[in-house]
Amino acid sequence: MQRRPNLLFIMSDDHAAHAISAYGSRIVETPNIDRLADEGVRFDAAFCTNSICTPSRASILTGTHPHVNGVTTLDTPLDNELWTFPQALQDAGYVTGIIGKWHLGHGPRHDPAGFDRWRILPGQGHYDNPVMLEADGVVVERSGYVSDLITDDCIDFIEEHRDEPFALFCHHKAAHRTWVPAPRHFSLFDDDDIPEPETFRDDLAGHAEAIKRVKMSMMDLDPIVDLKSPVPDGLSRDEEIEWRYQRYMKDYLRVVIGMDEGIGRMLDRLDELGLAEDTIVVYTSDQGFFLGDHGWFDKRLMYEESLAMPLLIRYPQLTKGASTSDAIVLNVDFAPTFLELAGVPVPDHVQGRSFASLLSGDRPDDWQTSMYYRYWMHRDSAHNTPAHYGVRTSSHKLICYYNDPLDQPGAHGPIDPIEWEMFDLESDPLEQRNVIADPAYAEIRSALVRELARLQRELGDEPYPGAVEALPG
Ligand code: CA
Repeated sequence: MQRRPNLLFIMSDDHAAHAISAYGSRIVETPNIDRLADEGVRFDAAFCTNSICTPSRASILTGTHPHVNGVTTLDTPLDNELWTFPQALQDAGYVTGIIGKWHLGHGPRHDPAGFDRWRILPGQGHYDNPVMLEADGVVVERSGYVSDLITDDCIDFIEEHRDEPFALFCHHKAAHRTWVPAPRHFSLFDDDDIPEPETFRDDLAGHAEAIKRVKMSMMDLDPIVDLKSPVPDGLSRDEEIEWRYQRYMKDYLRVVIGMDEGIGRMLDRLDELGLAEDTIVVYTSDQGFFLGDHGWFDKRLMYEESLAMPLLIRYPQLTKGASTSDAIVLNVDFAPTFLELAGVPVPDHVQGRSFASLLSGDRPDDWQTSMYYRYWMHRDSAHNTPAHYGVRTSSHKLICYYNDPLDQPGAHGPIDPIEWEMFDLESDPLEQRNVIADPAYAEIRSALVRELARLQRELGDEPYPGAVEALPG
């Protein structure tokens, strides 16, 4: 009998695909993450169903959308009695472990379940000398840099379980705000000028009013906490925005490099142990991030830079290497995919669908051609982002900002008017031209409105009352 594959699931935090050289990044080289692209498949249309840490992590583990698993915001922890795919792997005889960021709650009902070993950061955790938590209330004080420590622990786990099927979840804290590099990287990029993205000076003309209110601009970064320096005297506003961007991006990229080095060490160890052939190695991030795009940092919105997850998978039994897929795959599809590869049945309640066949380049004829997204945290205190939902196809995107707290935890502010946006991703991939009221798009708009309603029905979510009536005439 063929040995069951190991799973090494590496997930970072807020690492946008456009900060990975395998995805054509203009700003950084990530040679170790790139190895997975060279030897595996790069997914070019992998998306989260809710672009914020806790909900995306819950959707990955449970294979269900936020309105089904109940993890809709940062303040709705995961009920650890829910079915998860690590639990299913453990039940099927896998040794399971999670090391690093959990961010799905703490305590008897929210601690990791389905793991033989867990060592996690409390909440967001710290970059330097982090405290880590284990089962039975054990608190471990660590000395060192978080990405290095997580890497060390993961290598220990792999060595210990090299002779049995294992599923290891290596969940990096990097590259989450506030960005603190490893001391060896403090001066990396000091002599560089990080290129600004094309939309850095976006005036957001034509976008929803709710979008113009978000607090994600360079001026919303805290100089001391985020940028580690007071603003130099004598800068014009434009100069200050440029200075802030450089400070922000250099620390973000230093943190990315620290993690990339650790990933290289793990891949080397798999090679040395002779495990690479039998191990599915995944690299992803819980969602994307704005790297100065539209003038912003952060995520939350349904625009491409935030919606897209990097997703690289290497499994030499199936992947030919250096291949790409533009099939739409979602975080809810991860659970059934890894279960199928492990030969473990997928329960009916799982909403995602296995994309295992895509690893060898076979796309099922009836593969999904659209995806559903919903962000629930209306006017959160930090970023003032609107609640919204929408649909994305391979060519277009439709977004409804319904702007109502709906009594969601973490939500604030008044009920604002419903607004809609629509983008033609083929002619306007940077999403700068809202065509919701453009008569030339009337037919496509109707089709997208119907598709959004179909997805909501199929997935069991509720449309916001009066949303369709609020479409511009
Ligand atoms: Ca995140």
